[in-house]
Amino acid sequence: MAMQGTCLCGACSFTAELGSEGAGICHCGMCRKWSGGVYLSVDCGNSVVFGEGAPVGSYKGSDWGERVFCKTCGSSILWQTQDGNNQHVSIQCFENPASFDLGVEIFIDRKPSNYALAGDRKTMTEAEVMAMFASGAEGT
Ligand SMILES: [Zn+2]
Ligand SMILES: [Zn+2]
Repeated sequence: MAMQGTCLCGACSFTAELGSEGAGICHCGMCRKWSGGVYLSVDCGNSVVFGEGAPVGSYKGSDWGERVFCKTCGSSILWQTQDGNNQHVSIQCFENPASFDLGVEIFIDRKPSNYALAGDRKTMTEAEVMAMFASGAEGT
């Protein structure tokens, strides 16, 4: 079932389908700078389709990652691999962010010490995340 999402100003509206990996939390330095907080996102595979004329910008933050945002209001919308697959969409773009079960915290060793999130869930260090990518588990 397609989910509807929008940026803050509404100029970037999109539809997306839930992927298999579920939702999670990233504490890496790039996600924190880009999102202005902690990046909470949900796997949407390669299903994101923006509305006609959406003012979408993108920034290649690494050799393989790309960050998509609204050029009008600056909202962080999604992170994806540069091949357009593995789209991880900000849960804040959706009507009900609480509907997503946040199953994992990644880059836990990059989390600043002045905050911590409530609840028990799986955690992964930077090294563990990189090993997962290297093994092709993400399909990159
Ligand atoms: Zn916008
Ligand atoms: Zn990150």
